[in-house]
Amino acid sequence: MSATSTIPSKMIPVARPYIGGEEEKAVVDALRSGWITQGPRVAEFEKKFSEYIGCSNAVAVSSCTTALHLALIACGVGPGDEVICPSLSFIATANSIAYVGAIPVFGDIDADTFNLDPNAIENLITPRTKAILVVHQIGLAADMHPLLEVAARHNLTVIEDAACAIGSEYEGNLIGRPLGTVACFSFHPRKILTTGEGGMITTSDSELADRLRKLRQHAMSLSDVARHNSTKVAIETYDEVGFNYRMTDLQAAIGIVQLGRLDGFLERRRYLASRYSEGLQDLPWLQCPFIPVNCRHNFQSYMVRLLGSAAGKRDAIMQELLEKGISTRRAIMAIHRELPYQSEEWKLPETEHVTDSGLILPLFHEMTEEEQDYILEMIHTITA
Ligand SMILES: *Cc1c(COP(=O)(O)O)cnc(C)c1O
Repeated sequence: MSATSTIPSKMIPVARPYIGGEEEKAVVDALRSGWITQGPRVAEFEKKFSEYIGCSNAVAVSSCTTALHLALIACGVGPGDEVICPSLSFIATANSIAYVGAIPVFGDIDADTFNLDPNAIENLITPRTKAILVVHQIGLAADMHPLLEVAARHNLTVIEDAACAIGSEYEGNLIGRPLGTVACFSFHPRKILTTGEGGMITTSDSELADRLRKLRQHAMSLSDVARHNSTKVAIETYDEVGFNYRMTDLQAAIGIVQLGRLDGFLERRRYLASRYSEGLQDLPWLQCPFIPVNCRHNFQSYMVRLLGSAAGKRDAIMQELLEKGISTRRAIMAIHRELPYQSEEWKLPETEHVTDSGLILPLFHEMTEEEQDYILEMIHTITA
């Protein structure tokens, strides 16, 4: 393979969204239709999303962060309540809890799966604990059954941060066919399916879905579509403090096309991930992703762990790869190290270990086998 080892003229990015001509056309059609903000395309996207996931309700919103915010409100989490969540996550997980005046209580993770360790949460529960915000980190489902069992025993609501988990499976079911009360997805360009910005909440509870639909639109009693289609003058009311967390029809138009591509996206990612794991298994200083038998990963990210002294050389390894035209990222962040969430109280050894030793490799739909072979070759030249 030495013939391929010249540095590529273009940098290989960590991620790159795939947007085709059909997405462009769908946006132009939406623009010309006259419905610019939330309208029929949002409704169609919700219907198709709920059918794809196999959940009776899907509510589109402006991002996963706003989805989580509304989910917490609708589940009755408020000021002074405690919500257990992992620290090993994007900061939006904890921020959504802070938005409702509640307190994030960080549980440690299982270092193999990067997800909440069910054994690490029971001793965090207090009389003020209201919910568990479970994250399916980088697209691998958390171990839901033991988590749900603890939640049921303590009468806690389970909310799923499924930002990264579109197409991921737990015991043969897609994430979002809710195990918890609600699941929240992200359509940020860093995720597998994108609408620019956007989010979706799935729930089997239709009353909860109605409440979420109201809250996303200023808590208005009538939707724009209902008012538009009404043959009588319709006067709306506003019964509580709501939000403007709408998705636009321009975004939904993109989402509908992307949803049609999703199975192809997932197949390609799983194929490239298996090629990585095969090509890296001989390296003693690096550990490939672990997948429990009851889970199917979507490989929203491919994160390896650097072992032994290699972990301490992570930044140098990243620099070396960068100079060879390969962009990488450090592991998932640890929220408890950021200023708003620092405290002497946190004891999170596994979280700290993973955040300090993880390395995210490039993985995106249009990545070629040649690019991946080059990355594998360059990783093998590293003296860790
Ligand atoms: C990306 C991400 C979010 C935030 O999603 P947005 O759509 O950007 O608001 C929340 N939680 C996790 C775990 C994420 O990865």
